[in-house]
Amino acid sequence: MELPRIILVGNNVLEKLGEFINRVCDGKRILIVTDSKLKELYGKRVEETLKINDMILFWEIIINADFENVKKVKNKINEEKIDLIIGMGGGTCIDVAKLSAYETKRLFVSMPTNAAHDGIASPFASIKDSGRPYSIVSSSPSGVLADIEIISSAPERYFRSGCGDLIAKITAVKDWQLARDEKGEYYGEYSASLALLSADVVIRNSGKIGSKPKEKIRDVVEALISAGVAAGIAGSSRPCSGSEHLFSHALDVIAPGKGLHGEKCGIGTILMAKLHNLDWERIKIALENIGAPTRIRDIGVSRDEAIKALLLAPRIRERYTILHKMNLSKDDALKLIIDTGVD
Ligand SMILES: [Zn+2]
Repeated sequence: MELPRIILVGNNVLEKLGEFINRVCDGKRILIVTDSKLKELYGKRVEETLKINDMILFWEIIINADFENVKKVKNKINEEKIDLIIGMGGGTCIDVAKLSAYETKRLFVSMPTNAAHDGIASPFASIKDSGRPYSIVSSSPSGVLADIEIISSAPERYFRSGCGDLIAKITAVKDWQLARDEKGEYYGEYSASLALLSADVVIRNSGKIGSKPKEKIRDVVEALISAGVAAGIAGSSRPCSGSEHLFSHALDVIAPGKGLHGEKCGIGTILMAKLHNLDWERIKIALENIGAPTRIRDIGVSRDEAIKALLLAPRIRERYTILHKMNLSKDDALKLIIDTGVD
């Protein structure tokens, strides 16, 4: 198992970054991987806290989570003899920093600036190659620093999307159980329960999340970190990612740029819950309460694109799920979309 050693969640903890790094490592050469907007917003505050702690700070601005940007960051790490890499931002910055640190055997700290996905504390990096997403095994971050004040200032849409990524654990775990029962795959009761717990927190609080999101951000951030830890315990993304993620990844290919990761996973969870004979209406109502999209049209995806994605999804990854078992036809896919009202 690989788990983060130190996790700091709270208001205005950015000012404690220097001390935080001191607890993670002895090294003083720090590289922050981020985008230009975030550097402009938080760069000064970061510089000050690192300066007080006698650290030398380097920046690398990235645009996409692809292998080209990973290569750029790895070059910088080697050239500047970096001791620790911080991914500051959303999924793109965290994933590139995470994989670059892993491949150069350096320490990594995750510093999310939004709560849109569960990659914050997981040992996996999602990197795109020729438009296709790849989940690559890396290491869990040594530390996670989540400043709730900063995360609260991100657009609410990100936070609602993160809730979709958490609700997705319901079908992810169900797919994992299916693979255990029908294919004899290893199944971890503890990590599965932990992932389900994070989905449960969101479902039970969906009303409050929708009406008073600011009050619930901390709970959602902790649930996202906890889901990443569940993947670390399982040593696999199984507890966090199943057929609903395959649907989301298929949409990345068929309708690129439409909808956020967690939004697509949320809609995917409604569809896959129906295939699993679960209470899919409860999931749909929870997403509605949260204010997350429950229909493909909400994210600009057409019926035709959704059908294509459902048919492509099982081919995205061989790992056994309900989609591999059902082997949907075009008509089945259409019926599923209509029956669940995600049209
Ligand atoms: Zn996800």
